[in-house]
Amino acid sequence: MARKFYSIFSLKYPPCHGGDLFPTGALSFRQPFAQYTHCPTCGQPCFPEPGFYYGALFISYIGSGFFCLGVGLFLHWVLGWSMLASFAVLIGLVAILFVWWFLASRTAYLHLVFGFKPDILAAARAGKIDVRPPTTIKTT
Ligand SMILES: [Zn+2]
Repeated sequence: MARKFYSIFSLKYPPCHGGDLFPTGALSFRQPFAQYTHCPTCGQPCFPEPGFYYGALFISYIGSGFFCLGVGLFLHWVLGWSMLASFAVLIGLVAILFVWWFLASRTAYLHLVFGFKPDILAAARAGKIDVRPPTTIKTT
């Protein structure tokens, strides 16, 4: 379970937990929404079917909603900050985490649908899978 959370937070592909899903880092604003067509480690497709990532919308919505509620209420009620200061900090956090949240929601949704497959990871590490270099797709 810890490995799955690590894989989601580090934006790794679920079957092998080794290949990156995205060519740029989570906090990079250079090509922030580009995604590989297939895993660079095991070669499994990152787009199983057209419209696959619509489910990630709901993960993003639910997660960001509870995150904003939690941070806003914590700053205002627990720390006693003013409403304006709480919202200013919250808006700053959301602006910084926006790209990461988008990418993590896609990764989490992919992890919900596909599980970890140790045989794929073993085959990839042994070099038994011939993987061509992945291309990227601009997802927005
Ligand atoms: Zn992989």
